Amino acid sequence: MDSVLSPDFRPTQGKGAATVLERIGNTPLAHLEGVWCKLEFLNPSGSIKARIAKHIIERAEEAGQLRPGDTIVEASSGNTGNAMAMVAAVKGYRMLVVQPVGISSERLALSRALGAEVMEVGDFHVNEALARAQELGETEGYFCPRQFASEWNVEENRTWLGPEILHQLPEGAVPDAVVAGIGTGGTLVGLGQAFRAVNPDCLVVGVEPTESRTIATGAVGRHQIEGISDGFVPQILQDHRDEVDYLLAVPSAEAVSEMRRIAQQHGCFVGPSSGAHLLAAKKLQRDRPELKTVVTLFCDGGEKYFSEHFLSAAVQGSESGG
Ligand code: PMP
Repeated sequence: MDSVLSPDFRPTQGKGAATVLERIGNTPLAHLEGVWCKLEFLNPSGSIKARIAKHIIERAEEAGQLRPGDTIVEASSGNTGNAMAMVAAVKGYRMLVVQPVGISSERLALSRALGAEVMEVGDFHVNEALARAQELGETEGYFCPRQFASEWNVEENRTWLGPEILHQLPEGAVPDAVVAGIGTGGTLVGLGQAFRAVNPDCLVVGVEPTESRTIATGAVGRHQIEGISDGFVPQILQDHRDEVDYLLAVPSAEAVSEMRRIAQQHGCFVGPSSGAHLLAAKKLQRDRPELKTVVTLFCDGGEKYFSEHFLSAAVQGSESGG
């Protein structure tokens, strides 16, 4: 019998069963308005954090720090909680997400939908949730991945996300700069290490909300770029401060309007940090036109911000006859 498969058929999975975790990574690298944007919101669980969740959990299993029957407990502004809940569900661990009160209800609901228990601790910033998760992590039968401090976070970005981007850039192109907001700092530091291995002059540029320039000035404030500037200088950044060249500030309101524009003009339904990242990357290119290959990331999807930013806008749109 002739094969039913056309010659153009390109399988993406080998024979046999896979899990949803196989979908992590291999996201597209788009070129938007002169900036290379890694479309990380397309990862399962809806963010870049799927990568560190899988990597840190598997590293901890190998190291014997995480054993069958254990509970994973992690502090998160939401995306890492969602990602760890997904990995824990696949691998059969109990998951406890500790997150601040009053951050996106979508992320809280998604962690619960993925089978995690969510404990709300502290107000807006992640400090108190972090302390509680670390304390619980000391308990027998609990494992705390400590995303804000773990070198496995940096390692994932250096050895997986970074090489993937290098592979996707056009022949002969190497990054002249990487621009990323700082939550744990793992993305920025890990990508900086990966890119400097091929271009030692690659600039490593962090992004903070103008309202909360914690790393640049020590100021802590409320802002709308959730996922970055969590209220403290993360351990990873303390350990690798000399690897970051400088910090740009983006006002929350501009990040949010850029987020809306990205959806409407590029079809990428992303969250506020993606708006901040693209604005900061374009500013860097305007200020330093010699930087040809600038890389940034669209870290999470707009679905995580429906109640904060989109449903109310839709209501306003229809009220004004739109
Ligand atoms: N953007 C979003 C939406 C995030 O959730 C995070 C991580 N919390 C970041 C950016 C920053 O990534 P990192 O933790 O690697 O600094």
